[in-house]
Amino acid sequence: MSGAHGARREPVDVAIVGGGVIGAASAYHLALAAPHLRVALLEQDHVGSGSTARSFAAYRKQFRSRVHVLSSVVSQRELERFEALAGADVGLRQIGYLFLYRDEDALAQAAGAVALQRDCGVDDVEVLTGAEVARRFPFVDGGVRGATWCPSDGYLDPWGMAVGYAEAARRQGVDVRVGARVADLVHEGGRVAGVLLADGTVQPAAQVVLATGAWTRRLAPVVPITPVKRYVYTSPRIRGRDVSAFPMTVLDLGPYVRSEARESLAWGFDERPTEPTGAEAAARPGLPDEPDYAVEPGFGRDHDEYGYEILLRLSEAIGFFLEEEVGIADAACGYYEVTPDHRVVIDHVPDRPGLVVAAGASGHGIMHAPAYGMLVADLLLDRPARIEGAREAYALGPLLRGEARPDPETMII
Ligand SMILES: Cc1cc2nc3c(=O)[nH]c(=O)nc-3n(C[C@H](O)[C@H](O)[C@H](O)COP(=O)(O)OP(=O)(O)OC[C@H]3O[C@@H](n4cnc5c(N)ncnc54)[C@H](O)[C@@H]3O)c2cc1C
Repeated sequence: MSGAHGARREPVDVAIVGGGVIGAASAYHLALAAPHLRVALLEQDHVGSGSTARSFAAYRKQFRSRVHVLSSVVSQRELERFEALAGADVGLRQIGYLFLYRDEDALAQAAGAVALQRDCGVDDVEVLTGAEVARRFPFVDGGVRGATWCPSDGYLDPWGMAVGYAEAARRQGVDVRVGARVADLVHEGGRVAGVLLADGTVQPAAQVVLATGAWTRRLAPVVPITPVKRYVYTSPRIRGRDVSAFPMTVLDLGPYVRSEARESLAWGFDERPTEPTGAEAAARPGLPDEPDYAVEPGFGRDHDEYGYEILLRLSEAIGFFLEEEVGIADAACGYYEVTPDHRVVIDHVPDRPGLVVAAGASGHGIMHAPAYGMLVADLLLDRPARIEGAREAYALGPLLRGEARPDPETMII
């Protein structure tokens, strides 16, 4: 919008919209790199209330594109020293990530990626034969060809991470405002010059960063980020077996399961049981105005529901799910913020001077947030990207032109 507005707040250099893990990490890294800048972080609800608080919380360095592996490596380095940075623990649990493969070709491809990961400094990732899997992970009894295994992967507390970054940003002088919903962008002199808040006030800003995750198209319809509802399940306490260190285990790049809170398991998968069609599809616009976290029919806790279907698929390799009658205690959902190639956008918006997007992490926003925060700071300060190839790999222009971005990722779950 442009023209007359309500009361004007003190101008800032950068207004970051969205206090999820990416907005919070960006605010922290920007303030750290440029303490002289006036920075505001504007979150409509509370910090971490979007997809951040609803994720599976897992982090891995096992990717197939160099830029994603490097983003993971840089991020893990920061997560390991998070307490020093934020004054609070991020709940890192290095239970490892085990990718199981039943297909020989898929295993060969995975082994190729392990070489890349090792080249990027991931020293503890390895390829295992079927016999080694059986010996080291006796819970796998379904005959797999082999696996890749990285013991320093794991999961953490995403909400604690977002809050930790926001608090650290606040200590660096960032004006962190919650309950601050941005209703529109403000244009002046042919550029984005701030934001209009829902309370009618204007926050002038030399640059506006949209770290608005699945809701980015509300403020920048041109950016191709689609909200996709995803579900996770948790079991009740499992009494017959110690699952406290059950690694994040992924079968054929599909269904996955890991230890949750030490005594139970959590699992998920990316496919809907059936795609909605006709009237049902029309009733799901894909971009809800308000987050809709209703657990829909087909995704609940009853015995004929999707959560059990996932367990059944996993049980082809992990039999004890059936023996122990692992059940569902809870089903929850959130939104993936998906770009056409499942990779984040960190870039200026072409033809919209003053507007930057840092969103669309497509399911790996938690594990990469430290790196993305650094890259947002690099972009805003016009410095070379700290991660080789990141500027091009995370660019917006190719997506708008329908072109492929370099260094594509195929290890998407
Ligand atoms: C079920 C599920 C499982 C997942 N599992 C993993 C995983 O294992 N590992 C992993 O790394 N990632 C995972 N993800 C993805 C991860 O959660 C996201 O990539 C990450 O949280 C993105 O962070 P974000 O800051 O971009 O978005 P969000 O956390 O959604 O933050 C965006 C923020 O913007 C705010 N906002 C939006 N519009 C406005 C506005 N107009 N004004 C002010 N504020 C606004 C929202 O309230 C929200 O807080 C998962 C996601 C889901 C749903």
